[in-house]
Amino acid sequence: MKHIPSIQRSSSQHQKLAALRQAHQDWNNAPDVLTRLTRRLSTTLSLENQLGILAEELGAIVPFDSFNYRHRIARRDFVFATGMGGPHRCEYRLNLEGASFGTLTLHRRKKFSEEELQGVEMIISAAICPLRNACQYIAIEQAALTDSLTGIPNKRAMDEALERAGQLADRHHQDYSLILCDLDHFKAVNDKHGHVVGDHLLQLAAEAVERALRTSDSVYRFGGEEFAVLLPHTSDENAKDVGDRIRKAVSGLEIDCGGTRLSITASCGVALHSEGESPEQWLARADEALYRAKSQGRDCTRVFPTIN
Ligand code: GH3
Ligand code: MG
Ligand code: MG
Repeated sequence: MKHIPSIQRSSSQHQKLAALRQAHQDWNNAPDVLTRLTRRLSTTLSLENQLGILAEELGAIVPFDSFNYRHRIARRDFVFATGMGGPHRCEYRLNLEGASFGTLTLHRRKKFSEEELQGVEMIISAAICPLRNACQYIAIEQAALTDSLTGIPNKRAMDEALERAGQLADRHHQDYSLILCDLDHFKAVNDKHGHVVGDHLLQLAAEAVERALRTSDSVYRFGGEEFAVLLPHTSDENAKDVGDRIRKAVSGLEIDCGGTRLSITASCGVALHSEGESPEQWLARADEALYRAKSQGRDCTRVFPTIN
């Protein structure tokens, strides 16, 4: 008696496994476009790769002259575009469970027929879940590299950027400068006015540093009240001027603290990348220059002498 249910189970399991084998075979052969599309999309979490796959599969059924995808992810514009536009277009806002995952626009010389538009919609609805996952992956990746207080890239992002910058400088014999900028006597600001005011000043300082830079330069929150700036194609002499500009921007900040005006200053240390040196060595030299700026009175910029 005890064995009967187990025999029944194994027979039904046998059927299930046979069905699975058949399904696997069908899935592998994937004659239909939706199965092939979703299977291909599931092989990558890169939004760019996914959109390339979508454009390819969609174009094989509904030809178009251009495919354009736009979305704002983690405060950045993501754009994917292929081909050149035509006068006719169809546009889809990709929404899933109340959240938006970008806008897809197709352009063509010839008008899209109703049947073709239905086809586009069916293909988009099969792609929307993988696209949502890829968008969320970018957002999570971005969050891991962003400082939550100031919204600028964090130390982890900086470590990666510093490594890349050193390699670029070496490969192309290119001037690359690093500035470390530390707010002066910031502990006293916290002690006197509290952490809320300190946090607010840190946010304003990050914005001020960003405003003082060219678009090719990048700023990172390196530590508590310390920022790092990477400047491609920049000599230490020019980086010193940027350091002074940053200091001016920071000292120009003023906040109202219960009737009194509160302002701060900053000190900067500059080091030009030396050929072959490690990120740690480069950083240590900028830190040494910063230390000199601090010990020589603060509110100034010091440059580590180049050793090339
Ligand atoms: P120095 O001019 O030598 O740099 O003096 P300092 O007081 O700025 O330097 P110190 O290293 O002694 O103290 C840094 C202070 O920065 C301590 C801490 O209260 C403050 N700080 C660090 N991170 C944060 C933060 O996220 N929020 C706030 N409000 N304060 C922070
Ligand atoms: Mg400080
Ligand atoms: Mg500090």
